[in-house]
Amino acid sequence: MSATSARRNSAVRVAVIGGGVIGLSCALELKRRGAEVVVYERGMEIGAGVTSRSAGMLGAAFEWSLEADELAMAALARQAGEMWPDFAARVERLGGGGVELSAEGALVVARTPAELDWLGGMAAACQARDLPVRRLAAAELKREEPALTGKVLGGLELPGDRQVDPQKLLLRLGAALGKSGVGIRMGRAIERVQIASGFQMQDGDKFERVVLATGAGSKPRFVSWQGDVLETGLPDIVPVKGQMLALAPVAGAPKHVVHARDVYIAPKARWVLVGATTERGKADTGVDPDQIARLKAAAVALAGRLADAPEVTAWAGVRPGTPDDKPLIGETAIPGVFAAMGHYRNGILLAPVTADVIADQVLDGKVSGLAKPFSPGRFDKPAKAPHSRSSKH
Ligand SMILES: Cc1cc2nc3c(=O)[nH]c(=O)nc-3n(C[C@H](O)[C@H](O)[C@H](O)COP(=O)(O)OP(=O)(O)OC[C@H]3O[C@@H](n4cnc5c(N)ncnc54)[C@H](O)[C@@H]3O)c2cc1C
Repeated sequence: MSATSARRNSAVRVAVIGGGVIGLSCALELKRRGAEVVVYERGMEIGAGVTSRSAGMLGAAFEWSLEADELAMAALARQAGEMWPDFAARVERLGGGGVELSAEGALVVARTPAELDWLGGMAAACQARDLPVRRLAAAELKREEPALTGKVLGGLELPGDRQVDPQKLLLRLGAALGKSGVGIRMGRAIERVQIASGFQMQDGDKFERVVLATGAGSKPRFVSWQGDVLETGLPDIVPVKGQMLALAPVAGAPKHVVHARDVYIAPKARWVLVGATTERGKADTGVDPDQIARLKAAAVALAGRLADAPEVTAWAGVRPGTPDDKPLIGETAIPGVFAAMGHYRNGILLAPVTADVIADQVLDGKVSGLAKPFSPGRFDKPAKAPHSRSSKH
């Protein structure tokens, strides 16, 4: 960013609604580029949404195929993966502590010929995109990760697919925002925004831009000074419930993130996470003991020593999905209102790149080629709003 654009944007006031990883990351980047930023969060503390319930894996290479409709997502994921080391360093420096960015990458395990084909497709997709990948024979895989005790036919190493502790990340992001001078207003559910030469929140404070980062929560209504409700054109967020299990760390547990077709294991310093279910359309956070038992059995089948690991806790979170499973990043049908939501199963990974794209658009009206496919305009309903879509404000 040039000094000129920092000066030009210094007076811009931006309200970020939603204090999950996406809202907090956007707020940090907007502030870094000179905006005055306030985050509104309906929870009484940071971590009320799904971010704190996630596994924190940064799957920049994992599972992005060569299918045409995944190319844009794969490019975004790749960019995010490249940004993570610097992003983590900045959050740690400003936030006063670590986020546990792992040094090692992820392993993917195949136990059947069909799974070997799956791995072959993933390896080809990584190679086509110049992402680091290493094919491993069964013996190499077990040498790399001695905790794998079950039968394996082969595997992949994805050295760039690291992980963080999502709860520590939220904590550090909150501290980083405080240190940077971003206002964080907790216990403020924003249900209505009044449009009258800017955007007025329920507490009366006024902003020139709004970023919606409400995850699977509720989006506010935008009401004109005449009392008309203006449509953002955003589709409904599709809730996708995920249940997960935390096991106590035991000797002989995996050191890497390990993916198999039916389960993943993500070892953190304080516990070993085993996930996750994918229950589309479900928005509750109840935990089903049968699903948790299934996850544990699948993890034990991969890494037998986990059978001895006491269960610490289990939880469920609601991923913010979209009708096409791609995030909504960019200006809505209401000029000055931007979406940063719908990150489904990759919100932790995509946080730094989302923040970058949002800051480009909110402060400079710049929509990069990388960002275009994620424009909320792809779902535009006929707008009731008297405004037309524009990136100028
Ligand atoms: C089991 C599980 C495992 C996962 N594992 C991974 C993983 O390994 N890697 C990965 O990248 N992703 C993972 N995810 C997905 C990831 O958690 C999400 O994509 C990401 O956390 C979404 O972040 P967010 O900020 O959009 O949403 P949230 O974290 O939900 O934040 C939204 C915030 O907005 C607030 N809010 C909502 N409405 C309002 C309102 N009207 N006014 C004020 N505040 C409001 C909420 O309280 C909440 O704090 C996982 C998800 C689950 C469920």
